[in-house]
Amino acid sequence: MGQFLDTIPFSGIIRIRDMMYSVKDPFRLDQGDVSFDAPDSVKAAMRKAIDENRSHYLQTTGLPRLLELLAEKLKTKNRIPVGGPDEVMVTTGGIHALFIVCQALLEPGDEVIVPDPEWPPCAGNVALARGVPVPCPLHESLGWRYDLGELESKITAKTRAIYLNSPHNPTGGVLTRADVEAIAALAERRNLWILSDEAYEDVVFDGAEHVSPASLPGMYDRTISFYTFSKTYAMTGLRLGYAVAKDPAVRDRMKKALFYTASNIASVVQFGGVGALEGSQSVVTAFRDELQARRDLFYNGLREAAGGIFSGQPPKGAFYAFVRINPEWGQASIRKGDSLSWKMTEYLISEGRIGCVPGADFGRTGEGYLRFCFARDRRELAGALESMAALFSSRADRSRPAAPAAVPGS
Ligand code: PMP
Repeated sequence: MGQFLDTIPFSGIIRIRDMMYSVKDPFRLDQGDVSFDAPDSVKAAMRKAIDENRSHYLQTTGLPRLLELLAEKLKTKNRIPVGGPDEVMVTTGGIHALFIVCQALLEPGDEVIVPDPEWPPCAGNVALARGVPVPCPLHESLGWRYDLGELESKITAKTRAIYLNSPHNPTGGVLTRADVEAIAALAERRNLWILSDEAYEDVVFDGAEHVSPASLPGMYDRTISFYTFSKTYAMTGLRLGYAVAKDPAVRDRMKKALFYTASNIASVVQFGGVGALEGSQSVVTAFRDELQARRDLFYNGLREAAGGIFSGQPPKGAFYAFVRINPEWGQASIRKGDSLSWKMTEYLISEGRIGCVPGADFGRTGEGYLRFCFARDRRELAGALESMAALFSSRADRSRPAAPAAVPGS
C-alpha cells in the first residue's frame, strides 16, 4: 500500500504553499481561498453549539436538521428530484466527498474521464481508488469547454464515469445547458456515471447559468453530485461538504467510506452549516457580485501591469484567472525540457512575492499557463498587480527572468 501511494504524485500546490511561507509579506494569489469571513449566521450557530456542549458523536451521515435543509436546497435550487434527507450525506469538505464517491463507485482499473487542465485532487482520488484518470482537454478557444466529439472518443470499454466540474477550477470555464444535455445523453447512451463536482455552483458571472446534471430527466439515477460550504459561505477552514445520490447501494458504500474515515463530521461545524442555510442567502449573491468586481479589477490591472506577458479572457465562473504566458518570456534562460509555467511561478514568488500556481500542475494542457486566485481582498490584489508592474515595467525584463532558478522536478 505504501508503495502504491508513491505512484500518485504530490500536487505542486503543496510545494508552492511551503514556498509561500518563506516569503515576507506575500500576496497569496496561489490558494483558492476567499478573503471573506463566514456569515454571522454561521458563527452564531457554532457559538451556540459550543455553549450547549454539542461536542459529541452524531449520526454518521449528518445531523438530521442539516440533511433536511440540504435535501430541500438540492430540490429547489439545483432542481434535483431528491426523495428525502436519506439521500444526502455530509462530508469533510468537497474533497472528502470526492474521496468517498470514488471509493464507492470504482473497481480497480475503471477509467474516469477527467478534464485537462484538472484540479489535482480529482485524478488523485480516482487513483487512490485504484481507478485510472483519463484526461480530456478543455479548449481555451471554446471558453475552456469540451469538444464533445473528443470527449466521446475518450470512452472505452473500461470507462465507468465522467467527472464534471462546472464552473471549473482552474480555468473558470462553465458548461452550457446544451453541453450538459449532450454529456447527459452520452452518459445514457454509453451507460456511464456522472460525478458532478459543483463546488463553484454559486460563483457564476455575467448572468451565466449553472446547470446540475442530475436535474435533467432520468439523470439523477446515474449522477452523484457533490458540493461544499467552502466557497458559497466562505467556510474553507471549517471543512463542510455534502454529496447526494439516488442509488441506495452506492449510498451504502459511500456511508461505509464515510464512517471508516471520519465516523461523523465535526458536530459544531454541522451546526454552522445549519446556520448558513437557515440564515439570509443574500451573502451568497453579495460574495458573487464582489468576486465579479474583483475579476474585472484583476484583469484590467493585469493588462496594464503585464499585458505583454499574460493574456486570456475573464472567466464565466469560479474565481481564478488562468492566463497564458507569452512563450517568448524568459527564453534566454529556459532550457529545453524546462517548464515555462514553473519558471514563471518561481520568478513571481521570489522576485515579486506573488503566489500563483503553474499550469503544468493541472496537467498537460495547462503547461504555458498560470493560475491566479482573484478571490483575495482588493488591497492584496492591487499589491500583487503593483509588484507585477514593477517586475515587468522595463522592456528588457519582458524577455528574461531576473533570477533564473532551477525548476523543481515537474
Ligand atoms: N472541487 C473543486 C474543483 C475545488 O476547487 C475544491 C476546492 N479547491 C473542492 C472541490 C473542494 O473544496 P473543499 O474541500 O474545501 O470543500
